[in-house]
Amino acid sequence: MGAQPRPGASAPGPSGASGTSAASATGLLAAIADVGVDRVRGGYSRHGFDRAELALREWFVAESRARGLDVEVDRNGNLWAWWGKPGPNALITGSHLDSVPGGGAFDGPLGVVSALAAVDLLRARGFVPSRPFAVVVFAEEEGGRFGVPCLGSRLLAGTIDADTARRLRDPEGTTLADAMRKAGLAPERLGRDEESLSRIGCFVELHVEQGRGLIDLGRPVGVASSILAHGRWRFQFTGEGNHAGATPITDRHDPMLPASQLVLAARRAAAAAVGSRATIGRIVPVPGGTNVIASTVDCWLDARASDDATTRSLVTEIEAAARDAAAAEGCRLEVTEESYGDTVIFDPALRDELAGLLDDAPALPTGAGHDAGVLASQVPTAMLFVRNPTGVSHAPAEHAEPDDCEAGVAALAKVLEHLAGSER
Ligand SMILES: [Zn+2]
Repeated sequence: MGAQPRPGASAPGPSGASGTSAASATGLLAAIADVGVDRVRGGYSRHGFDRAELALREWFVAESRARGLDVEVDRNGNLWAWWGKPGPNALITGSHLDSVPGGGAFDGPLGVVSALAAVDLLRARGFVPSRPFAVVVFAEEEGGRFGVPCLGSRLLAGTIDADTARRLRDPEGTTLADAMRKAGLAPERLGRDEESLSRIGCFVELHVEQGRGLIDLGRPVGVASSILAHGRWRFQFTGEGNHAGATPITDRHDPMLPASQLVLAARRAAAAAVGSRATIGRIVPVPGGTNVIASTVDCWLDARASDDATTRSLVTEIEAAARDAAAAEGCRLEVTEESYGDTVIFDPALRDELAGLLDDAPALPTGAGHDAGVLASQVPTAMLFVRNPTGVSHAPAEHAEPDDCEAGVAALAKVLEHLAGSER
């Protein structure tokens, strides 16, 4: 195999966790660089409970055990690596290991490896946590397989119904329940997890920045201020499948026509509402033949705005345009909301406290959703961002320089050390 990446390979062994030397974030990322490489799209495709994500989970367990951390899997498939005894008022840090289809190397894994590296750094300094402490890995954060983002944290927080979650299907038709069962987990236990929730005293998630805020400010690390309200909607246009050559234009009910109008309407509506975003990133025509007029076209709208009302009115406007376009082509339209999260304002006192601790780190809003955003309504939550020199995320060009990654680890260690001794 030589230096060739091995997509979806079995878990690499623990690295840099000999118990004596501290691992670097980039060293830990290098250890998983071959797992889930996507040769077709580029970047990585690592989705909840697929081969690649399971290999990464196995790797995380091995890394945690090599550090003497005790790993638990909760009812919803999230992993918790405890430094010391699990208990209430715990200090929790971590992120996720899954990616979007063809995603970058940093979104998710950087927060997990930085947490492990921060444990090494704190331990090397002789730090012993004075309160329960764990590194968490949330399951299916991107929703890249089952369509609902932050699935592990939503289940934990009870913001998605367990039956609905069990029935979610991936593009191959496998349900979440079956995928979990295949991974050795028990989907009948899914649901709001009072025990795990009640143990979280404070959650800090480090994440690669998904934008250009820190580059423009010339700072390696920032803190999060807020997350846009955001959701996903499925638009299913149904027309009449037929022959591309034998069907006169006037006789057609081609659902691709209103689907294309939907793409344009989304851009138009978002451009008219300052700071809003609307994207159609996925279209699936059925049956999907070059010489076939599609019978149905499924499109997924991702819409985000500063507040709930603006997001809702954005989606209403886009849907109205799609309904008009469907009617004009003699097609039907069914719209389903697949997920929704209201605006998140991270605990301002905690945010300011951490920014102050980190040499007045800038506070940045983000358009990206996170597990920390889901938990913010339940427990004190904060996020640290690490500079991304490309500003690109959810794509192979996503990046963070090694020095910035280490600045992130140092910042996270400082924050954890501080919080370990605080009332939060
Ligand atoms: Zn992420």
